[in-house]
Amino acid sequence: MKILVINAGSSSLKYQLFDMETETVLAKGLCERIGIDGHLKHTPLVEGKTVYDEDIALPTHAEAITAVIDKLVSPEHGVVSSMSEIDAVGHRVLHGLDKFSGSVLVNDDVMAAIQEAVPFGPLHNPANMTGIRACQKVMGDDVPQVAVFDTAFHQTMPAKAYMYAIPYEYYEKDSIRRYGFHGTSHRYVGGRVAEIMGVPEKDLKVISCHMGNGSSIAAIDGGKCVDTSMGFTPLVGLPMGTRCGDLDPAIMQFIMNKYDLSIDEMMNILNKKSGVLGISGVSSDFRDLDKGASEGNERCALALDMFHYWVAKVVGSYAAAMNGVDAIVFTAGVGENSIATRKAICEYFGYLGVDFDDEANKCRGKEQLISTPDSKVKVYVVPTNEELVIARDTRDIVSGK
Ligand code: ADP
Repeated sequence: MKILVINAGSSSLKYQLFDMETETVLAKGLCERIGIDGHLKHTPLVEGKTVYDEDIALPTHAEAITAVIDKLVSPEHGVVSSMSEIDAVGHRVLHGLDKFSGSVLVNDDVMAAIQEAVPFGPLHNPANMTGIRACQKVMGDDVPQVAVFDTAFHQTMPAKAYMYAIPYEYYEKDSIRRYGFHGTSHRYVGGRVAEIMGVPEKDLKVISCHMGNGSSIAAIDGGKCVDTSMGFTPLVGLPMGTRCGDLDPAIMQFIMNKYDLSIDEMMNILNKKSGVLGISGVSSDFRDLDKGASEGNERCALALDMFHYWVAKVVGSYAAAMNGVDAIVFTAGVGENSIATRKAICEYFGYLGVDFDDEANKCRGKEQLISTPDSKVKVYVVPTNEELVIARDTRDIVSGK
């Protein structure tokens, strides 16, 4: 079975084609500047086929999908002989409100539910729907489309974790609650660490730290998410690349009044100009911050200190929430690559019984135990693989599992 995994943004579209017999990626790529001019980079991962990396007119997402399929079947760059070899498509969808606790086959009702969630994910959900419609248009109704939601894994949170302490009617009438994001990544990492440890997921308490441009932490008890640091939107929890993380809401009123800012201007500051970029004034990229700090830039060092402190604080609160923790896992761009960040965070974990292994930690982008094998709480690096989860869910749904 071959499954195409699609992550559609407003002007971009990432894809991977999986062969599910071996769970390997046959080709991957990225369409950019859709609706502006267009660029496609297509990378086949089988021998004898070459990379395609060109400007190409991509007026709409449907044209982008057509271009992708064209490359997937091309003699020079392709990995399948015809479109009919693609059995199904799995789509990343940001927001499923509280309607979806798992992945689903797309039908009219599912599209209506994704549409209903647009006010909650105004940038992503419309783009995700455009990606689904483009595939339906180009590939026809016979090719099943599956929606995999970023919010689904967090639907097992108990009310005490997902409710905000504001008047209850806002929950009842307006669905204001914590939803959480990065669910597919947390789910993958939680499952994978159980496999690595050789312990059933149901017997493990795991804290998954997804640290990239956006960062979130999830408490996973017995394979189920019981709390997570992102909330109603991805703006809260940890300080991130450019997002502020947790904030006293009265600060908004104070700044808006003092500088005569609109709510949109204020939100733009909190989403795009805050986090480690706002603190350092240098960059949202942790590599730049590491460099700045090593050259004596105090604000870079402060931004990093704050990030480490927040991760440690949230991990501590989740260990308390679960009454213990067996494994802490680092994933995503920073978690998989930043040796210094992992070390600085783990320095807080002595009280948990973490025996950190400095040598083992000197790794990048691979699965690795970075505590000693005898450490009371194990610490791992596990590269995330959201696309594989989407491909597996799609396979299971279309094969009726
Ligand atoms: P996104 O949230 O966009 O998916 P990623 O998970 O790809 O983000 O993470 C991107 C971030 O990873 C970059 O902003 C950068 O800060 C960080 N990163 C990548 N490589 C390294 C590295 N070697 N050291 C420190 N940080 C790194």
